[in-house]
Amino acid sequence: MSKIKILVVEDERIVAKDIQNTLKNLGYEVPAIASTGEEAIKKSGEIMPDVVIMDIVLKGEIDGIEAASKIRSLYKIPIIYLTAYEDEETLDRAKITEPLGYILKPFEERDLHTTLEMAIYKHSMESKLTESEERYRLLVEHSPDGIAIEVDKKIIFLNPAAVKMLGVADDVSFPGNSIFDFIPPGHLESFKNRLAKANEKHSSIQFIEEQFIRKDGTRFYTEIAMIPYVQEGKIALQIIFRDITERKKADEELRKAYAEIKRTQQALINSEKLAALGRFSAGIAHEIRNPLANISASAQFSMSKFEMDKNMKKHFDVILRNTESANRIIKELLDFTSPRETVLEEGNINAVLEKVCELVKPRCTKHNINLVKKIPEKLPSMPLNDKKLEEAFMNFLSNAIEAMPDGGTLTVESSFSKKDNTITVNFADTGFGISQEDMDKVFEPFFTTKDDGTGLGLSLAYHIINAHSGDINVESKPGKGTAFLITLPLPVKKENRI
Ligand code: ADP
Ligand code: MG
Repeated sequence: MSKIKILVVEDERIVAKDIQNTLKNLGYEVPAIASTGEEAIKKSGEIMPDVVIMDIVLKGEIDGIEAASKIRSLYKIPIIYLTAYEDEETLDRAKITEPLGYILKPFEERDLHTTLEMAIYKHSMESKLTESEERYRLLVEHSPDGIAIEVDKKIIFLNPAAVKMLGVADDVSFPGNSIFDFIPPGHLESFKNRLAKANEKHSSIQFIEEQFIRKDGTRFYTEIAMIPYVQEGKIALQIIFRDITERKKADEELRKAYAEIKRTQQALINSEKLAALGRFSAGIAHEIRNPLANISASAQFSMSKFEMDKNMKKHFDVILRNTESANRIIKELLDFTSPRETVLEEGNINAVLEKVCELVKPRCTKHNINLVKKIPEKLPSMPLNDKKLEEAFMNFLSNAIEAMPDGGTLTVESSFSKKDNTITVNFADTGFGISQEDMDKVFEPFFTTKDDGTGLGLSLAYHIINAHSGDINVESKPGKGTAFLITLPLPVKKENRI
């Protein structure tokens, strides 16, 4: 290690030499002696000593205290006074220059040594502290996270990122607010609770999500941590927060995309199931139809050829009726599983709704169900297949009636939104509802919760609405009721097309 350099400032030549010799004996280097304040300042700049030993009373314009203060402010070199004066006034003036020591003449070599060593140690510690403070200051200044300090419910510090996020750059009344002033009023209570819980449960810093409201009233999502501590007997908070609005948006989009993929996947599975059912039905339909035709033909032949009493005729009628019924079921199954293209013609949704309501009226009366129609006078016409829509709507209505064995209210509602250019139809019941678990499955072919159900009603309805480019949304609360909301887009008018 190189020797410690000391500049001695002393106007008495003999004393100066004495100090120089003592210092050299102690192992320090004394490259220069200055006899006036002016000379001390000049030499300090030239040789940059580690310490200046300064006499207070000097010849020349300025005294030692003034020279010391200049040296401190210009070069930050530590000062030790070595003087014969110990009056209050001199001491007070000297204090302002933050000397690292004060030795009275005549000095003892030992005193000089300890004071110097302590001064040098203290100075190096202070330099280290200043350096680390500077490092932390830079970190805080350049941090992309907002950092704030609050003491006694008032913000006393905000870093530039925090100023920007909170939009308080031009606010002259700031600081003065508490960080809690930036949390939307309705959120405050729950935020404080969550914060307390997070800080209580974990020993490390916990970030929690919350909205912030800027000075101009706009909002953004943050992830925020608050670390309480005590500063000079007062409650203080260190606050770190970051804007996560973009991240939240991306998360939301990802969630939507995932839901869409799941829906598409389910639709694919459903249509795959239908296709398999189609192949299966087509295969067996032929096999069953032939023997059925034979049974029917033989029954008819027997009835025309043989003399039969009333009772026997009745039995043959049953055979005939049932072969017809079996034939019809096969036909419907084939219709369902081999979806021919749905032909659409301009028509009126309300007419279809009126018809299905008429059809279910007797069943509603029988089951003590209040059928409420909220169908407006006029809806725009749209391309539709009335037979198929009738079938789809009947399925929603039948399910609703079956969900209210002890009566209730069945509301059928239609409306038109000019803004979205859509017609919506809503079938709402006050029945037993659908459990959360079943919600995803109701459109699956063969999914049923009924003893005598086929589980084909809703999947057929889904395909029909799909063929009208429409969409179905279900909302259900177990024990409260279910609503099926069908949205049907109207074609874009020709004159509106670009
Ligand atoms: P099915 O009526 O033969 O059971 P669907 O495809 O019509 O077949 O319906 C499937 C299942 O969806 C039903 O078994 C029932 O669990 C549920 N569901 C449909 N509509 C309703 C409704 N309005 N209220 C309660 N559950 C319903
Ligand atoms: Mg059904």
